[in-house]
Formats: sequence, C-alpha cells, structure tokens
Amino acid sequence: MITTDNVFSNSDITVTYEPCVCINAERCARELSNVFRNSVIPWIDLDGDSTEKIIRQVKKCPSGALKFNYNNQVA
Ligand code: SF4
Repeated sequence: MITTDNVFSNSDITVTYEPCVCINAERCARELSNVFRNSVIPWIDLDGDSTEKIIRQVKKCPSGALKFNYNNQVA
C-alpha cells in the first residue's frame, strides 16, 4: 500500500515510491542525487532537477518501486 508519505509531486508529475518493493540498489540516489537523497527527509525532492530527467530516472528503477504519473492525465 502506498501511504501519502511516499507520494511526491511537482507541477508536472507525481512520483510514488513503494519501500517494500525497493531492492535498495540505490541506482536512483547514485544517478540523480539532487532528487533522490538517501539522508534527507523527505528523501525525494522533485524540485531538485528537471521533470524530464526525473522521469528518465524513475523508468530506470530496476524493482519498479518508483512510478510516476502526469498530473494532467485522467487516471
Ligand atoms: S532505483 Fe528503485 S530499487 Fe533502486 S534504490 Fe531507487 S527506488 Fe530502490
């Protein structure tokens, strides 16, 4: 289940994170550390880089723990 603690939005997208799915490969933190920060809470800062780069990084998450939706898309 995704709690509100693991939902992050900027003006374009909403990113969700499922901790029990994450395999802690730390790929996100290593490759886009301005956004995925492992020692700060909240750990995802969607203002840390461009939406385009964040989407690219979310798609690279090997476990599927990170997902995103466009805010203007009807669910
Ligand atoms: S890239 Fe995905 S699996 Fe790896 S640490 Fe980040 S959220 Fe977890």
